[in-house]
Amino acid sequence: MGIFEKFKFGFKKSALTFTSGLRNIIVKKEINDKTLNKIEDYLIQSDVGLQASSEIKDIISQEKIDPKKDVMNEVNIILKNYIISLMQPLENKNFFQNKIKLNTFLISGVNGVGKTTTIGKMGKILKSNGSKVMFSACDTFRAAAIEQLESWATKIDVQIVKSAQGSDPASVAYKAVEQATQNNFNHVLIDTAGRLQNKKNLMDEYKKIASVTKKIDPEAPHEVILILDATSGQNVIKQVEEFNKIIPISSLIMTKLDGTAKGGILIALAKKYKLPIVALGLGEKEDDLQIFSAQKFAEAFIQIN
Ligand code: GDP
Ligand code: MG
Repeated sequence: MGIFEKFKFGFKKSALTFTSGLRNIIVKKEINDKTLNKIEDYLIQSDVGLQASSEIKDIISQEKIDPKKDVMNEVNIILKNYIISLMQPLENKNFFQNKIKLNTFLISGVNGVGKTTTIGKMGKILKSNGSKVMFSACDTFRAAAIEQLESWATKIDVQIVKSAQGSDPASVAYKAVEQATQNNFNHVLIDTAGRLQNKKNLMDEYKKIASVTKKIDPEAPHEVILILDATSGQNVIKQVEEFNKIIPISSLIMTKLDGTAKGGILIALAKKYKLPIVALGLGEKEDDLQIFSAQKFAEAFIQIN
């Protein structure tokens, strides 16, 4: 399966649900105000967000679709063009390219969103691009979290810096960045714990991780990547806000788009925050991370070519 097919396949649940719902609304040849409002409501229900849904409705209304044409197809084209023009500026297709200087990536997000898994997948892409990659196991809260990152490191053959369960995450991060600098690594990926329920602790620990890396390189962390789980729906908006308050987020990765009908949330996020979208998670395996392409996302979302 090529990358595009895989993307479409992974995203099928979202897309099929979305498209069939839209088809049930667009039954007549003419789009009147009632249909326009239904389309808007439907977009909102599909997590596309108030602002984007209202803009899409306005564009459909202004376009005055010729009833002789295939109306569903025309609406799909409008949607596709809207998504592409909104999201293309947020692409960063060179994100995984090899860097000359060490790049420190801080990976954040609440529990269970897919941080550790995404680090494994990112490591694979970076490595295949010729990068020397190191993982830093800074979710020291649970032994299983350290082991999980370790098993990814073994699987894709990258180095890992870790410490015992319960040790200070910041000191693990410091050690990793120090060793990576000394040994000419290109990327350090720092895994973190996501215990939002204990916010004060999380904030302090998380801030400390970022600040110790600055002792080695004042520009570190070079990227603060927030991982979001597509199945969380509207909750992701709150997560972006909360995390952004602690340390400004530089990029987003959305996971679990393979098993949800909630892909529209990425459009709402793009409209609201305009944060770069690096990649999308489409499964649990090492090759299930797709570099974000607005065109591919749009086409997969509405299942047209
Ligand atoms: P963390 O707590 O944020 O580190 O999350 P984990 O990386 O441990 O992932 C939590 C669960 O989500 C695991 O069972 C992963 O296999 C699963 N997972 C992560 N990313 C994806 C994805 O893109 N798609 C699917 N279907 N599952 C994923
Ligand atoms: Mg984890």
